[in-house]
Amino acid sequence: MSDPATTLIHHPYLPPEGFMAPQVGVFKASTVFFPNVAAMGSTQWKDKTGYTYGLHGTPTTYTLEERLCALEGGLQCLLVPSGLAAIATALMSLLRTGDELLIPENAYGPAKELARSELAAWGIGHRFYDPMDPQDLARNIGPNTKLVLLEAPGSVTLEFPDLPEQVRICNGKGVLCVLDNTWGAGIAFSPFDLSPCAQTALAVDLTVHALTKYPSGGGDTLMGSIMTRDPALHQRLQLTHMHLGLAVGANDAESVLRSLPSIYLRYAAQDRSARQLAAWCRQAPQIAQVLHPALADSPGHAHWKSLCHSGACAGLFSLVFTPQTSLAQVHAFCDALKLFKLGYSWGGPVSLVVPYDIASMRSVWPAHLARGTLVRFSTGLEAADDLQADLAQAMQRVFF
Ligand SMILES: *Cc1c(COP(=O)(O)O)cnc(C)c1O
Repeated sequence: MSDPATTLIHHPYLPPEGFMAPQVGVFKASTVFFPNVAAMGSTQWKDKTGYTYGLHGTPTTYTLEERLCALEGGLQCLLVPSGLAAIATALMSLLRTGDELLIPENAYGPAKELARSELAAWGIGHRFYDPMDPQDLARNIGPNTKLVLLEAPGSVTLEFPDLPEQVRICNGKGVLCVLDNTWGAGIAFSPFDLSPCAQTALAVDLTVHALTKYPSGGGDTLMGSIMTRDPALHQRLQLTHMHLGLAVGANDAESVLRSLPSIYLRYAAQDRSARQLAAWCRQAPQIAQVLHPALADSPGHAHWKSLCHSGACAGLFSLVFTPQTSLAQVHAFCDALKLFKLGYSWGGPVSLVVPYDIASMRSVWPAHLARGTLVRFSTGLEAADDLQADLAQAMQRVFF
């Protein structure tokens, strides 16, 4: 083995073991070596006792999974390439032809589209339920209902449902409940809270989480997780995950691992800014309604208050402009913002704004929402006073 082409690959030097540093290494691999054929046949990856192939896990991805479990209170976690892939994988794994899925009216839009397209084509039915009326959820659960999607709050309209009651209804009827936990992120409330206090006990069967938002925190990484505390459910999800060949890149996993230690600080900072701005916007005459779960008159405020003992909220709020405000004026207002950028997503360093057409998103206009154009804001990590000045200058420019 004297040819350099060989020795630069099969090099005798091995770095010493025991390297310790704040961050986990970026282990990149498709191929993983086995010491012998016996090990090749016996190594297990499903319980994380070994490594077999990059697709099935590396020290980097195993570590991220375990730290996310610590964040959300789950026992098993699977990583997928996006938040939407987490929703899709969970639904594809747990639903079969003839089954029915229930989706809240205010659900993340692409999840509704998935139900209307692929799931419908595979013979999986769906119905939409009113997230603010648990009895409507109960009424919609039929003999074929296998799974209920939950989201708290709605990611655009921010109304907060009675989540514990919704989960009680699902448990009582024996249907799985899957919470999109992107807003709470494991910080605002505990989705797997098994506390004996019946009033607040909340134990969803699984969570899906767009790690793209808070866990990444950078506006630069797409990733999702599927988490549970039920070994049988996890095994089923794990098999689907394997059959579909889903995995995440090591560099992306590392970027989420690097951001995770600051997630509580970022969540709190964006929460503070969003509250300041939401409160400030209430005085604007063009605003008919300010949606933010911590505002006493925001839909579902009492549910938020009783569930989120920490008092925390994600850094999101929405404004409904008065019907007298034209669509062109609302768009001009969004265009006039300088620090708030027009763009999807949230949880990153840059504040973002998106106008939404609620009429096209709902079958009926919800009674708890004022009529008018809705604009959703997500606060980044800029100084709140600068963001407030940005809102003020854009309003000044368009409305005065
Ligand atoms: C962003 C988001 C998703 C999807 O996440 P991606 O990583 O963008 O696919 C799903 N649910 C909610 C509530 C989200 O905000």
